[in-house]
Amino acid sequence: MGAAGVGLFRTEYIYLTHPDVPDEEEQYIAYRDVIQASPNQQVTIRTLDIGGDKTVPYLGHTHQEANPFMGWRSIRLSFEHPEFFATQLRAILRAAVEAEESGGRVRIMFPMITTLEEVRKVRAMVRKSSQQLRDEGKPCPDSIPLGMMLEVPAAAISIKDMLPHVDFVSIGSNDLVQYLMAADRDNPKVSHLCQPLAPAVLRVLASVIKACNKANKPLTLCGEMAGQPRAFVLLFAMGLRSFSMSPAFIPTMKDLAAHLTMDDARHVLRRALTLRTTAAVKRFMADELARIAPNLRMLDTD
Ligand code: PEP
Ligand code: MG
Repeated sequence: MGAAGVGLFRTEYIYLTHPDVPDEEEQYIAYRDVIQASPNQQVTIRTLDIGGDKTVPYLGHTHQEANPFMGWRSIRLSFEHPEFFATQLRAILRAAVEAEESGGRVRIMFPMITTLEEVRKVRAMVRKSSQQLRDEGKPCPDSIPLGMMLEVPAAAISIKDMLPHVDFVSIGSNDLVQYLMAADRDNPKVSHLCQPLAPAVLRVLASVIKACNKANKPLTLCGEMAGQPRAFVLLFAMGLRSFSMSPAFIPTMKDLAAHLTMDDARHVLRRALTLRTTAAVKRFMADELARIAPNLRMLDTD
């Protein structure tokens, strides 16, 4: 479909399709297969993001949480299972060596980072796992980029403090939008509030993109928003240059990018940021999109 690498490799499926915690060898093979299928390209592997809507009993999800999306999920759960977390890190590190041999690059991304302490903690854990592999005489890359997923409003607010401690950032737009709007994306009663084009969301995104670009930190945006043409124009104008989306959206987005000029996109963004409601932004962007790329094949129906 024209993708330049793998922007988000969700590792949950390995756990969800397994009766027990998958061992290091099994995980290593799964990661290595993806890496080998992507020669000369970048593969970003996300550590376990389970909890919320996806649970596995063997990791301790035995009781119903009142607020699962604000509860024990993602990196929070990995921290409480350091032995399983280390198994995953070791498997990724070993697989990353394969990438070096095939001209590719691997990055590790940590989901749902909320505080700077968490960033420090994951760095220390990767250091420890790397050292253990070396002590055992096993392959391990000399260094590997470590990134945070920006999904929690607190992290967006303190992004400048976090940037010196991460090698890259990936905005998880699905979660960031649901947390900014305080609306569960899977709850049909409130999911209408989960709007990537909400003025508040756009302002937060603009400030995060500006901070990352100013600090020269590679930044990607993933989640549904990355595949929405109306959002693409605004994100491009904000300075975002890396988008991670479902493969089916890639041709449309490439087509749209070919129709865009920086001046035009910036002009559209300036106007969009003056609008006060999501409905107004959506209407405005629908008109602008029809002008910029009238024959665009639209896949999103929002
Ligand atoms: C996101 O939150 O945007 C994201 C890509 O992660 P997931 O949808 O897997 O939570
Ligand atoms: Mg997420």
